Amino acid sequence: MSKILVTGGAGFLGSHLCDALLAQGHEVTCLDSFYTGSLSNIAHLQSETRFKCIEADVQNKIDGDFDEIYNLACPASPVHYQKDPIYTFKTSVLGAMNVLDLAVRTGARVFQASTSEVYGDPVVHPQPESYWGNVNPIGIRSCYDEGKRAAETLFFDYQRMFGVDIKVVRIFNTYGPRMDSKDGRVVSNFIIQALRDEDITIYGDGTQTRSFCFYSDLIDGFIKLMNSGNDIKGPVNIGNPGEFTMLELAKKIVSITESKSQIRLLPLPEDDPKQRKPDTTIATEKLGWKPNVNLDSGLRKTISYFSQQVKFKG
Ligand code: NAD
Ligand code: UDP
Repeated sequence: MSKILVTGGAGFLGSHLCDALLAQGHEVTCLDSFYTGSLSNIAHLQSETRFKCIEADVQNKIDGDFDEIYNLACPASPVHYQKDPIYTFKTSVLGAMNVLDLAVRTGARVFQASTSEVYGDPVVHPQPESYWGNVNPIGIRSCYDEGKRAAETLFFDYQRMFGVDIKVVRIFNTYGPRMDSKDGRVVSNFIIQALRDEDITIYGDGTQTRSFCFYSDLIDGFIKLMNSGNDIKGPVNIGNPGEFTMLELAKKIVSITESKSQIRLLPLPEDDPKQRKPDTTIATEKLGWKPNVNLDSGLRKTISYFSQQVKFKG
């Protein structure tokens, strides 16, 4: 049994990670400011004696003694990370420094939830980890993209300077139950709109692509990377290589929900990446990881979750 800290543990991915680590018998501490996360994501864990939740901000020094630290604390949806871009940037950079300083003091292995956004609007397709990206440093997405890039820099500098045992994952769009229904991400937006027979809001002409990974595949990749040998530091792409346009995604969701929704085209937000698809060769060859849940099956499970939410909230 290991003592594990999960920052951002009350969020969409963090709460599923806490569940998976507890199921493996570990002692888990969730640290969260509840900026975008919610108590309801971890309510089912309150009576679990191996689980503890601390309300705190990763921008401040973190105390404790852990064997492993997973750093997930950061708003992830464009709507939330653009609301207060300076908070987002500080969370990424100061949060990385604080978990790394804790790792220096305690010898913990430390994992960073980085993102495919480090590739920006990519001119290399699909994106391998060796691609340095095409990121606007001064645009509305930069607080997130550059914050996450700076966090990766810090991870590798702490590794080189202090020998910190690091693991860095680059996450591609992930979806599933416990996504925040109001955070504006495409999968939750389209599902809720379809369930309510409202217009499906496609930004731009809908030809931009994304690769969608179901949360359980991603969490499996997280744990495989964390438990991998010392030689594997990352960055490692984890994402489902299936690639879909937003128009295709909308049509799939309308069809599965048998919705009467119509497509409505709205302006494309600034710097919205045109294409995204992970090259997962490293994850497959070095971690033995591959996704098991295809988009249709993951969408059905997510739709079933949101149908309950829509029913209760009206
Ligand atoms: P989320 O918004 O549901 O979870 C983020 C959690 O971090 C929330 O519980 C929030 O309250 C907490 N948090 C934010 N700022 C904090 C701070 N300063 N101090 C303490 N806690 C703070 O988002 P998610 O989708 O679960 O994303 C989790 C991580 O994975 C993020 O780091 C995100 O950048 C990364 N990621 C997610 C995706 C995806 O598709 N879901 C893709 C790429 C990267
Ligand atoms: N998008 C859309 N309609 C929505 C929400 C998002 O067409 O209601 C588009 C968005 O412009 C982007 C893609 O869907 O091209 C994915 O958006 P999301 O915010 O989920 O993730 P990210 O842009 O960070 O990959």
